[in-house]
Amino acid sequence: MRLRNKPWAKDKIAQNPQYVVPNPEDYKGKWHEAFGNQQPLHIEVGTGKGRFITEMAKAHPDINYIGIELFDSVIVAALDRLIEADLPNLKLLNVNANDLAKYFTKNDVDRVYLNFSDPWPKTRHEKRRLTYKDFLKLYEDIMLDGGEIHFKTDNQGLFEYSLMSFSAYGMLLKFISLDLHKSDFEGNMMTEYEQKFSEQGNRIYRCEVKFQP
Ligand code: SAM
Repeated sequence: MRLRNKPWAKDKIAQNPQYVVPNPEDYKGKWHEAFGNQQPLHIEVGTGKGRFITEMAKAHPDINYIGIELFDSVIVAALDRLIEADLPNLKLLNVNANDLAKYFTKNDVDRVYLNFSDPWPKTRHEKRRLTYKDFLKLYEDIMLDGGEIHFKTDNQGLFEYSLMSFSAYGMLLKFISLDLHKSDFEGNMMTEYEQKFSEQGNRIYRCEVKFQP
């Protein structure tokens, strides 16, 4: 993600607390209060400019969504989309995924989406990959039993690494596509990166994996 300095980003985020939750730790264990209903909660970790999560929230009003993004200069683009769409079932968190346990607890989350996560190809950066075992533990600890991760990437190395990481963690590999756009999978929602990389001719890999007791 190319970062542009946007000195106004912090103010814009602060002016929209109904969309970018300013105190997410207050909702730990009670996210249904933030949404005012008991719908399932799906989160996207590393949501970027928010195209995927906004379109998912439009298409599935019976599910609540949270997009999590580290950089304020990036999440403001997702905020613009959300202001435009004014969706009651989508919120954004401007936080680091390393700290998920501060904001969520067991049974808060039904599904985690990881889309085009940074590949961190150097072995010494393995721990930063969002499919590293410590992140899987973080996701497991905030999800319902049997919760699923849905993962897409164009990076073959990261995909292979992630399948091995999911498998070594004891997860069930439910669905794997080695060429999503040529598969019969229905209902795919494109992300910004997916559009860019597939237009460059890159193949898109996708899998659904499930935590097991
Ligand atoms: N998911 C989007 C897409 O497919 O278009 C964005 C993909 S971009 C390559 C990865 C995003 O994940 C970046 O915006 C980055 O800032 C965010 N990210 C990476 N590590 C993160 C972390 N630890 N916590 C929150 N966001 C993170």
